[in-house]
Amino acid sequence: MSHPPRIDLHCHSSASDGLLSPRDLVLRARANGVDVLALTDHDEVAGLAEASQAARECAIVFVDGVEVSVTWGGITIHVVGLRIDPSHVGLNQGLGAVRASRIARARRIARALDGAGIAGSLEGALAYAANPNLISRTHFARFLVEKGCASDVRTVFQRYLVSGAPGHVPHRWAALADAVGWIRSSGGTAVIAHPGRYKLNGEQMRVLLGEFRDLGGEGIEVVTGNYSPQQAADFGRLALEFGLLASRGSDFHGPGESRVDLGKMPALAADLKPVWHDWECVAAHV
Ligand code: AMP
Ligand code: MN
Ligand code: MN
Ligand code: MN
Repeated sequence: MSHPPRIDLHCHSSASDGLLSPRDLVLRARANGVDVLALTDHDEVAGLAEASQAARECAIVFVDGVEVSVTWGGITIHVVGLRIDPSHVGLNQGLGAVRASRIARARRIARALDGAGIAGSLEGALAYAANPNLISRTHFARFLVEKGCASDVRTVFQRYLVSGAPGHVPHRWAALADAVGWIRSSGGTAVIAHPGRYKLNGEQMRVLLGEFRDLGGEGIEVVTGNYSPQQAADFGRLALEFGLLASRGSDFHGPGESRVDLGKMPALAADLKPVWHDWECVAAHV
């Protein structure tokens, strides 16, 4: 391989709220020229075996991942775990509890939507969940689009599912310490996902990164699907300031729903230390 490896360490399959099966996701990554792919489904590892098998067949380097939902300082933060052990008991117990809480939240979302005059949304959302153990707001969004509540998922989120909208309910996810602990105890590296998505000012972001690092967190996504050059520069500086490794991931959910396709992001700046700097699987591939 003459080019630097094309690496995408954040995406979703139908085991969570992605549109493609784990196998089809890997095939699409291959077609896009991705060399190293991590599947990071929300609070779920059920898609990893199929993705890993497909990756072996088409000679992609595959990385077992997960994206854990966390409540920190009253807001929702996502923590990506890379090179986890999908069979680790503690990790699975933790993720199982988060998935169970998703089902309880889904019932509350459905009640809230009932109150807004939209009936049958729990069954409707579950019909979009290929994995009935992992129900997400995205599944509700797809059902609401089907119902004609808005023309696309993004608009439906704004009108019905974000904080302050009629179908929004408060929810408490995992604690940051627990999420980092599950990832680390299963042998993985914890990475703050899409830091530009949180409504945190500079001071609050520094508190988060300091706490995260003190808990054993090691990385931060610098180049993400919602990439802007300004954000990449800002988070690159924070990675250096906090001694965090830099990651890169599209957060691809599916054709038509995601702006950025698998692997189609700019490279990390040269002064950053990539999260894969000491991964033999990447070194062997170069
Ligand atoms: P949940 O974890 O069930 O609350 O769902 C969060 C998921 O919803 C994210 O991972 C995105 O896939 C999707 N999402 C959140 N906000 C939006 C938005 N404004 N537009 C489109 N998708 C969104
Ligand atoms: Mn998602
Ligand atoms: Mn996320
Ligand atoms: Mn994601």
